[in-house]
Amino acid sequence: MTERFIFTRHRTNCYNCGEVADQIIKAVSAQAQVICSHCGAARIFLPRIQEIGKEGAYTPIGCYDVWELETEAPCKRCGVTGPHDLIIGCNHFTTRCRNCGYTHFYKYNLQYIAQCPIEEKEEAED
Ligand SMILES: [Zn+2]
Ligand SMILES: [Zn+2]
Repeated sequence: MTERFIFTRHRTNCYNCGEVADQIIKAVSAQAQVICSHCGAARIFLPRIQEIGKEGAYTPIGCYDVWELETEAPCKRCGVTGPHDLIIGCNHFTTRCRNCGYTHFYKYNLQYIAQCPIEEKEEAED
């Protein structure tokens, strides 16, 4: 992934290994990922919608473990590098530019363990 959009980390209990570990959060236009730095469990999210959204419009409902984070990122639409809201749930991953409201909405696609020997090589790298 050459494009740099979201790159941050969130320290919490890993859903897979149960350890308190940094969860590496990465997103570009084509894909978003959350990877456990301890066990390598990765969740992949694929883009669904990109539009100007109201704050909180995409907050997933009924998920027991939603991370609401904030990170600096360059906005593709307004060009401002500034705070973005980052909302990550079990099925959704959304980013929203605080400056112009441009929202990327990703939907959960698959999960894999990066350290697994039968690692899938079909991940689209662009
Ligand atoms: Zn883990
Ligand atoms: Zn923006």
